[in-house]
Amino acid sequence: MPLSGLEIYKLLPKTNCKECGFPTCLAFAMKLAAKQAELAACPYVSEEAKQALAAAAAPPIRLVTLGTERNFAVGNETVLFRHEKTFYHEPGLALRVKDNDPALEEKAALVESFAVERVGVDLTMNALAIENASGDVGTFAGAVAKARAKTKAPFILMSDSPDAMKAALEKEGGMKPLIYAASDGNVEAMAALAKAHGASLAVKAETLDGLAALTEKATAAGVEDLVLHPVHNSLSGALAAFTQLRRLALKKNFRPLGYPIITFAGAGANSPEEETIAAAQAICKYAGIIVLDHFDPADVYALMTLRQNIYTDPQKPIQVSPGLYEINNPKPGDPLLVTTNFSLTYFSVAGEVEGAGKPAWLLVTDSEGMSVLTAWAAGKFDAEVVAKAVKNFQVESKINHHKIIIPGFVATISGELEEELPGWEVLVGPREAVDIPAYLKLWQ
Ligand code: SF4
Repeated sequence: MPLSGLEIYKLLPKTNCKECGFPTCLAFAMKLAAKQAELAACPYVSEEAKQALAAAAAPPIRLVTLGTERNFAVGNETVLFRHEKTFYHEPGLALRVKDNDPALEEKAALVESFAVERVGVDLTMNALAIENASGDVGTFAGAVAKARAKTKAPFILMSDSPDAMKAALEKEGGMKPLIYAASDGNVEAMAALAKAHGASLAVKAETLDGLAALTEKATAAGVEDLVLHPVHNSLSGALAAFTQLRRLALKKNFRPLGYPIITFAGAGANSPEEETIAAAQAICKYAGIIVLDHFDPADVYALMTLRQNIYTDPQKPIQVSPGLYEINNPKPGDPLLVTTNFSLTYFSVAGEVEGAGKPAWLLVTDSEGMSVLTAWAAGKFDAEVVAKAVKNFQVESKINHHKIIIPGFVATISGELEEELPGWEVLVGPREAVDIPAYLKLWQ
């Protein structure tokens, strides 16, 4: 049973020292009970209290890590809606391949190498799911060995047969795979394999009661790293099941269902497009691992972009470090542009300058990760901020002119900026980054 806020409070030091970031021990206890704080934030909790509070401090959804050299962790989420706080561990994307697919090695190599860069972050595939479609033990184990030679990504080993699973695990390389799946008929044998090989274990059932019964059996057998597969064949079925699981874990602290979810986006889909739609829904609500049957870079990039956006802390936009950036090896006489440190803004501007093949200096101000207009409206990108950045990053020691190009959207600050930077000429650049190459052509 979870502890109430008052029960937790009784176990805290009650000194109200505020070091946990909350004004009182009671406030901290309430947040702890609501799963919105970590017990580790209080440095003064006694060992006895820690033990008593273990249940309250444990994450409502267990953190499960797949893989070793290449790994990813899922679970440990604390809210139903992203705007309440943030989503922490983005879902892993896996590609499914059958053990008798002639393209198995090619697909394994694809999972290993596929990467796209967006706002300075490399987006990659996370896992390879190998299915014992042949039904043959030797074929399955052989496929796992071949795939392992091509990728260090974690595997999801898919078979209902404990014998096939055992043979596959022996070829897998000890890289913390996920065993898929334990069900009513094989849960004891699959749990024993998971325990012996340090693997995580997926349990599958059509009902939530069925899933809870399986996780209780698996934990009784000593397996803690579990993943849930509520079997469904429709978008609405998946949405209902995943939402119920998340609510039960977070709102009722129902431990038997406090695990990440795996889903197969192709289940029930009639086309690759429908599969992509199901995967997009699963990214938003509330899958931890999403297995795809098809791989089209255009679809996968869209899913990765969505995933990156959903799993970015809404209160902490992705930022780049403020500073003076050199693009295309600029010389002292080359143009100086200024923008904010919101990643999307920076990479849009830097990408256009780079693409134009023109050398330039790009001054990036500390605008708390906001885009140009938002930062201007919030007073984080005004004449004073830009002038301060010119001084702090010693721009005058790098260039031999006194011209600065501001974004067209903030043309209104040009007069004030000329006052802040006496002797400088403030030029108003384009509003959109896409127009920068044409603008730079005019630079003398
Ligand atoms: S750090 Fe610990 S003792 Fe201090 S206010 Fe927070 S809960 Fe109380």
